[in-house]
Amino acid sequence: MLFRNGRESDNIEDRRDDGGGGGFGGGRSIGVGTVVLALVAMYFGIDPRVVLDTASVTQPRPAEAVRRSAPRSPAEDELARFASMVLADTEDTWGTIFKASGGRYKDPHMVLYTGATRSACGVGQAAMGPFYCPADQKVYLDLSFFNELKNRFRAPGDFAQAYVIAHEVGHHVQNLLGISEKVQQARERVSERQGNQLSVRLELQADCLAGVWAHHADRSRQVLEAGDVEEALGAATAIGDDRLQQQSQGRVMPDSFTHGSSAQRVRWFRIGLEKGALKSCDTFNTAKL
Ligand SMILES: [Zn+2]
Repeated sequence: MLFRNGRESDNIEDRRDDGGGGGFGGGRSIGVGTVVLALVAMYFGIDPRVVLDTASVTQPRPAEAVRRSAPRSPAEDELARFASMVLADTEDTWGTIFKASGGRYKDPHMVLYTGATRSACGVGQAAMGPFYCPADQKVYLDLSFFNELKNRFRAPGDFAQAYVIAHEVGHHVQNLLGISEKVQQARERVSERQGNQLSVRLELQADCLAGVWAHHADRSRQVLEAGDVEEALGAATAIGDDRLQQQSQGRVMPDSFTHGSSAQRVRWFRIGLEKGALKSCDTFNTAKL
């Protein structure tokens, strides 16, 4: 990716110096916050076990002890700058798209943290991966996820990282458009299996919106370089539910999918990228996901 003007976002909250476990007091191995978070995680299609399994690692520590003593590496600061530039570009892009249809885009914030941090949706844990909290309109990102993307999911490249951020910003767009709330309400009335299907449609739409962003960013600012699209498709493939389930359980159970299969994630990112229009991302009224 190439950000020629290199603008960074003003909407970054850097909490990396708070250290893992800092800022929310911890104390119980599985507390109310964790349970709430597990529910939120289910809503967003994150396997709640991921949250619950890691809850016990949080330990209460005095504030001084959680301050990080070692300086951050230049590589990590570079990642933070990159994430900030991606966020800035999504602000420009979505600002323009909303304005064109007579609306006003409200920028989300992005919280950079290490280990764990407080959010209006409960305690965010690095093990959950990046997430968006509609209640405070913030994207939460532990930069170590990018290493995981590269090493564990074998999806390297800066555009793979940008796709992940753009997907979370896609959830913010869904929130502004009232789609998230509608899905949340609908989920309360249906079975778990039907609820999962709604979640898949919401997630695939966020993938499509990430594609819409890439389409416009490239047309206005020529941000894509050779190989970039392949990087994003590689990431979409790597974090499809079928691939993740295969890796963790050795089998695939489509009914429990909450994000969509690898092929579906790739397909919807591609649709957004090619069409560049919000209306092409109507995953709720399509026969074929
Ligand atoms: Zn998502």
